[in-house]
Amino acid sequence: MSTNIRERSTKAPLRAALEATLADHRSHLAVCDVDDPAIDHHRRAADAIVSALDRLDRGTYGLCNSCGEPIPGQRLATVPEASTCLNCTMTTPRLLG
Ligand SMILES: [Zn+2]
Repeated sequence: MSTNIRERSTKAPLRAALEATLADHRSHLAVCDVDDPAIDHHRRAADAIVSALDRLDRGTYGLCNSCGEPIPGQRLATVPEASTCLNCTMTTPRLLG
């Protein structure tokens, strides 16, 4: 139980940051024209963050979806919603962008 509470408190700032970014993308989506090229970026970014929040709940956040290795903290600091390590991102072109 105490582990859970500690884990929850260390994840809270990350969750708050992800949710803030998600809200930001969603507010852009709300005002984007359907033919605005940016809509695709915001939609994909929002999807990635929803998926990151889901992994946070499942306890798999920070693990590469492709190879299962831990994603380096430096990458997560830059891209908190990253679902793959840099190596897998580079070798799997469809994951780019
Ligand atoms: Zn990987």
